[in-house]
Amino acid sequence: MSYTMKVLEKVIQQNPNEPEFHQAITETLTSLQPFVDAHPEYERAGILERLCEPERVIIFRVPWVDDSGKVHVNKGYRVQFNSAIGPYKGGIRFHPSVSLSIIKFLGFEQVLKNSLTGLPMGGGKGGSNFDPKGKSEREIMAFCQSFMTELYRHIGADTDVPAGDIGVGEREVGFLYGQYKRIVNSFTSVLTGKGISYGGSLTRTEATGYGLVYLLDEMLRQHGNSIENKTVVVSGSGNVAIFAAEKAQQLGGKVVALSDSNGFIYDPEGIDLSVVKEIKLIKRGRIYEYTDYRKKAVYTEGSRGIWGIKCDIALPCATQNELNGDDARELVKNGCFAVCEGANMPSTSEAIKVFLENKVLFVPGKAANAGGVAVSGLEMSQNAMRTAWTFEKIDRKLKEIMINIYNNIANVAKEVGQEDNFVVGANIAGFKKVADAMLRQGIV
Ligand code: NDP
Repeated sequence: MSYTMKVLEKVIQQNPNEPEFHQAITETLTSLQPFVDAHPEYERAGILERLCEPERVIIFRVPWVDDSGKVHVNKGYRVQFNSAIGPYKGGIRFHPSVSLSIIKFLGFEQVLKNSLTGLPMGGGKGGSNFDPKGKSEREIMAFCQSFMTELYRHIGADTDVPAGDIGVGEREVGFLYGQYKRIVNSFTSVLTGKGISYGGSLTRTEATGYGLVYLLDEMLRQHGNSIENKTVVVSGSGNVAIFAAEKAQQLGGKVVALSDSNGFIYDPEGIDLSVVKEIKLIKRGRIYEYTDYRKKAVYTEGSRGIWGIKCDIALPCATQNELNGDDARELVKNGCFAVCEGANMPSTSEAIKVFLENKVLFVPGKAANAGGVAVSGLEMSQNAMRTAWTFEKIDRKLKEIMINIYNNIANVAKEVGQEDNFVVGANIAGFKKVADAMLRQGIV
């Protein structure tokens, strides 16, 4: 058995009951196998064993009191996965499904993603099984403050810099940052995704969605195609989905669907994003409310059905494993030729196989959604320089980074004889930089 497969087997055996983590390392290690096995120095230095074992895992109790005076306890996590190329960096997720397995899969992906941005950031991820849905503003604040009261001792501007993710937007980052600052009495760049008035970066809110579409646009351009007049389906209706849809529309695409965890909307005339923003960003409502504003739009229960809509381009921007093999076959049957992942691991392994076999231009999340963390990296730079760049400047840099990521993963795929296999390209390109830094830093 090859070195890579031996490590994979052992890591799975040593980390039972972590299906999402198994899925992420299986996808990555399987595609890295020929490359790693051709470089015995990685085996000699135990690179894969070290890459798959987080440097540190912190699990803690988060007690908080609801508006009726009842005490609740949630689990808090921070997985500091790899700091070979920079301080740990990665978001915090608040969602009832959060488990150690989910945080580890996200942290592992983050290591390679951050490497792809070209910026000096290691990988980490955190979160809690707290459900922010239906909670009052005071309850959210109480939870964030309690979460940070433990987390603060493990993070720092040069150690670990968390950000938002599902369930953690600017409001939550504000509460987390306020509590951090109060405890340590220091105004540092310890979180990104902050509000503009206290050190946040312009373009951060838009960055993941815009970045996704910049990469898509470049990939299509290099294949003699474009987004113009293409029908686009975007899943989710959160931060990533809304701004992916916005950029796709700006580049001439027709976005016809969005979803949430209950169902999806289809608007044959094209989604009106001002309505979606009002429902989701201002009222914090549900996506079905869209049909109150747009009479030709249809709402269907069950979010998976979104993949049955005929489209040219699909952008899964909701959550892990939201698109399975059957969904992928349906997309291919309906003529979809490009899929870029805005979410982390939204496609199951079977779905990815279907895309690759059918020559769909498929870009995995670790490359396609790296724009968010890239602009977080730029937020860190601005904070360190005590300056604030303009929206245009950051947007330009974001576009440059996404084009570089595309060229990097496309070139690597070509070099290893797998042209247009961006899964292989992203994994090798992301891995190489981290592994080479680890080789030079000794056995640590
Ligand atoms: P948000 O919390 O802003 O939005 C998540 C959206 O996905 C919500 O609309 C949610 O609906 C919906 N959703 C959740 N589960 C499902 C499902 N099973 N089917 C359909 N829709 C669903 O999160 P983000 O937009 O920030 O994150 C989305 C994805 O992008 C995640 O995988 C995240 O890790 C990834 N990502 C985010 C980055 C960022 O900068 N924010 C950066 C890189 C990756 P509901 O309200 O019903 O829960």
